Amino acid sequence: GKVLVSGANGYIAVWVVRSLLEAGFSVRGAVRSADKGAHLKQLFASYGEKFELVIVPDITKEGAFDEAVKGVDAVEHTASPFHMNADDPAELLEPAIKGTEGILYSIMKHAPTVRRVVVTSSVAAVLSMLDKPKVFDERDWNDQAVAEVAEKGKEANNGSKYRASKTLAERAAWKFMEEHKSQIGWDLVCLNPPLVLGPVIHAVSSPDALNTSALMMWEAFTKPGKAVGSGSFVDVRDLATAHVQALMNEPAGGERIIVCAGPFCWQDWLDVVPASNTNYEKGTPGAGKSFVHLIIFENGKAKKLLGLDYRTMEQTAKDTLEDYEQKGWIA
Ligand code: NDP
Repeated sequence: GKVLVSGANGYIAVWVVRSLLEAGFSVRGAVRSADKGAHLKQLFASYGEKFELVIVPDITKEGAFDEAVKGVDAVEHTASPFHMNADDPAELLEPAIKGTEGILYSIMKHAPTVRRVVVTSSVAAVLSMLDKPKVFDERDWNDQAVAEVAEKGKEANNGSKYRASKTLAERAAWKFMEEHKSQIGWDLVCLNPPLVLGPVIHAVSSPDALNTSALMMWEAFTKPGKAVGSGSFVDVRDLATAHVQALMNEPAGGERIIVCAGPFCWQDWLDVVPASNTNYEKGTPGAGKSFVHLIIFENGKAKKLLGLDYRTMEQTAKDTLEDYEQKGWIA
């Protein structure tokens, strides 16, 4: 079958495209300009006609994906802005929501062959900020961020603006499904990853130009004082596998699925590197050990529905550092 991947030049999406091709699918990658597709063309040249590009200049325009969806069997919608420096929340909300709704309308109108749609949502659409520890699962929704942005607009926390964009986009997707279920022949899977880390195969001119999550990792390893705070992670390659498995496993249809390896403190990443490796920041070894994580994600559903096995921190750290070394990003 043929799969449309939106935002195909992104950090996660290039791994998704690669995993789909390796699994035997044909892939049509949607990017904003021919320029942004050049690296992909080169990277996947050996797949010949099994990999093609389509240009969708503005995902917020009505009917933007009308041509792109024609003739595909499944869609992976990953395109959405992920950064924490929007002043006006609309900068994030508009492409997140309109991009999601728009691609679903285009599929309904122009792609009767589609059987499944996977949307790359986020735990940003699941979590909320609490003062006591909580284990979040797929029943939880981040209405807190949405309320904060509705109330404070530009004055809202920049993280909340991003999290509201993901919550509203995912809600819009499920609402679309509910409203159009009698008119469509496909079902929806939403994947909800935490911070996505690991090796980089998309086009990056220099490490400073990395996407938000990969940049955080690079800074933690290479800049003094950056390895502070905590989060949860999944290796980008495991998330790519999840995107493939979400197409292949019937019971995943109609589900939102948290795809999370576990929590971390940034210091933990420095601590899993062999002490003999002097080229990386050392931070304050052990400082993460006694940390109490307030936010924990239940991750059993992905194991059950997608058969996922998660890479460990050691594996992700090792492969990421080897990647930096190969790229000459570190001595
Ligand atoms: P990248 O920034 O590497 O990729 C984002 C992709 O979305 C790019 O193809 C980008 O296109 C496209 N995009 C962004 N804004 C717009 C816009 N306004 N109009 C059209 N296309 C746009 O980020 P990631 O790979 O990290 O993110 C991919 C998806 O994964 C997003 O939906 C994100 O919310 C989600 N996610 C990411 C996590 C992470 O830790 N990385 C965690 C959880 C979810 P262009 O290059 O042209 O700007």
